[in-house]
Amino acid sequence: MKDTFRHKGLRQQLVNTLVDKGIKNQAVLGAIGSIPRHLFIDSSFLDHAYQDKAFPIGANQTISQPYTVAFQSELLEVKSGDKILEIGTGSGYQTAVLCVLGAHVYSIERQLELFKKTSQFLPKIGYVAKRLIFGDGYKGLKEEAPFDSIIVTAGAPFVPKPLLAQLKVGGRLVIPVGDEDQIMTLYIRKGPKEFEKHELGNFKFVPLLENKN
Ligand code: SAH
Repeated sequence: MKDTFRHKGLRQQLVNTLVDKGIKNQAVLGAIGSIPRHLFIDSSFLDHAYQDKAFPIGANQTISQPYTVAFQSELLEVKSGDKILEIGTGSGYQTAVLCVLGAHVYSIERQLELFKKTSQFLPKIGYVAKRLIFGDGYKGLKEEAPFDSIIVTAGAPFVPKPLLAQLKVGGRLVIPVGDEDQIMTLYIRKGPKEFEKHELGNFKFVPLLENKN
């Protein structure tokens, strides 16, 4: 569980790459610059941890590409103390980014193996979410709603209604929508029944899975 000067150097190069690709939010860049991504990745991929790429994390899932994490995090416009729901805990890397940004994070994972692994790992390296939940993200987390923002880190074939319903007025839902490829979509809740929708380019995620548990 070491974080060496070499890792720090590689991480700074990754941050520079993200700046080149258009990420501007200093807090987001700072978070990515501080989190030891190599610890979130299977040891056989250690050398690749600071490339701007997605990687396998077990249970047929991947840790998202750093650019994607940065892009989604930027869209959330996180303020310290925000209550944020994440769908798809996976490796916990995105969760860690949100923790560093000062959010109170609730994160749902539906693969038991990943849920167990990440629940142990994240606090061990100092990132403490409010709650990690084993469950189905399509339902959101009604008992903790409403949220300042909700981030979905798997490709959703459609926008689950409970997620829109669990946003505060003024809140933001960032969700990649589509089957094979996804369009990054931002919904801003303008009123109880009013949502503004922005489509922000193409991405590729593992699917948000239905009908399991
Ligand atoms: N945020 C993660 C990305 C993991 S990939 C990271 O930074 O590593 C997407 C994750 O969503 C996978 O772990 C997958 O198991 C999970 N997932 C898929 N369908 C889900 C669902 N219906 N509810 C909750 N999590 C789901």
